[in-house]
Amino acid sequence: MRWNQIKYAGWGNVLTADTQVARPERHSALEELITDCDHILPIGSQRSYGDAAIATEGKGLKTERMDRLLDFDPDTGTLEVEAGIKLGEILRLFAPRGWKPAVVPGTGMTTVGGAIANDVHGKNHHIDGSFGQHVESLVLLTADGNARRISRKKEAGLFKATIGGVGQTGLITSAILKLHPCPSTTMSVSENRIANLSDFVDAFEASTAPYQVGWIDTLAKGGDLGRGILEEAEFSAQPAATIMNQKTKSIPMTPPGFAVSGPIVKIFNALYLRRVPVDGRTVDRPINEFFFPLDKISDWNRLYGKKGFYQFQCVLPMERAKDGLSDLLEIVSDGGIASPLAVLKKMGEGRAGYLSFPMEGYTLAIDLPNRAQTPAILSDLAEVTERHQGRIYLAKDGAISSDAIARMYPEIGKFREQVNKVDPGHKFISAMAKRLNLRGQS
Ligand SMILES: Cc1cc2nc3c(=O)[nH]c(=O)nc-3n(C[C@H](O)[C@H](O)[C@H](O)COP(=O)(O)OP(=O)(O)OC[C@H]3O[C@@H](n4cnc5c(N)ncnc54)[C@H](O)[C@@H]3O)c2cc1C
Repeated sequence: MRWNQIKYAGWGNVLTADTQVARPERHSALEELITDCDHILPIGSQRSYGDAAIATEGKGLKTERMDRLLDFDPDTGTLEVEAGIKLGEILRLFAPRGWKPAVVPGTGMTTVGGAIANDVHGKNHHIDGSFGQHVESLVLLTADGNARRISRKKEAGLFKATIGGVGQTGLITSAILKLHPCPSTTMSVSENRIANLSDFVDAFEASTAPYQVGWIDTLAKGGDLGRGILEEAEFSAQPAATIMNQKTKSIPMTPPGFAVSGPIVKIFNALYLRRVPVDGRTVDRPINEFFFPLDKISDWNRLYGKKGFYQFQCVLPMERAKDGLSDLLEIVSDGGIASPLAVLKKMGEGRAGYLSFPMEGYTLAIDLPNRAQTPAILSDLAEVTERHQGRIYLAKDGAISSDAIARMYPEIGKFREQVNKVDPGHKFISAMAKRLNLRGQS
């Protein structure tokens, strides 16, 4: 197997690795590759923002060439795929045939392996739960070089440690997914301006739409705190059609950090809000553009400049949502860091793994450019999250302490038991697992 020395970063471009990475294509190469390495980490598309996919202790195994479709039952929508296939590709191929992944996150670049390892959620979490809940079984190549098919019925503990287990139990080589019916490749999207945070939560509670997402203007203060736009969507009545490849643009060079400075973000936010008429509007949007709006610009993360950015994402329980979200937004609007991207979603109870992020309540995700004051702001946000009994999302994190994570994830003990049993030598390890002491042994 060819190993290439590469430097790479998490999506936030703050936490980096400089290590040897292989891109295997054939399953026959995998067993040897894993048993020959002292330490290794599966890597998907590197869409995790912090250090979940950062291999600082050993080598990296990028799954991008393990992307084949293996089997499909058109009567039940049961699809077997290799773990390196991207969710956007599954949507592109299957939506015109009436099926879609049950859950997709905000980027179609996420691989099936990455979606399982972070048990990702989408705009329909309040109804359909997390990605892992729609995984029937998966094949896991463990530290001893053996491949085992695991599910809720077979090795249930290991299955629950692997879903949301950030690559620590082994390499997921393939999975069987239950797709959902997809009656159209167009979404009917209603957009409405929302005046403040309290109205936002009330509007989510009143909504019956299967897909919902809110954008928040983080520069608004006082009575306007939490104002933004709520998008509610359902499948349009238009019949399914072939999805055109989304045309992507790229950023030709890394712009200076002031591309996301306060005055520019202020103008952007004001324009974004006014994009939607005062009385709201309903528009049709191609399904891939609705689910993956940011994928239009392939490397938009470079807009934050060379120092990169963090994304903070937490979830707060329903009863603490209004107070807690207000405390969080005040920290950001008073913090002197302009964030152009803040997203609010409602979550249901659905979660499939011991370290799965979701809980019933509201989740807020905010981009924070990496400036001198950012670590202090992140620490304040984490403290408020904990005070309101919430938790922080590992897919986005690059800053929280190991003690806080252990308190936020009550099933971490069960995760540790499984992972230390299946991989006692810590062959699978990431910078995040070390930083957060996920295995509980440092
Ligand atoms: C624009 C954008 C929008 C996003 N929106 C959402 C959202 O709405 N909801 C949400 O939940 N997340 C969202 N995310 C986060 C993203 O979906 C997750 O971080 C996801 O895990 C990324 O998948 P990946 O294939 O890039 O995996 P990577 O980021 O490369 O890896 C993530 C983790 O998965 C492990 N892993 C990867 N492949 C395998 C494998 N085959 N076997 C075992 N472990 C593996 C890695 O070791 C690592 O720990 C978003 C990210 C971006 C950039």
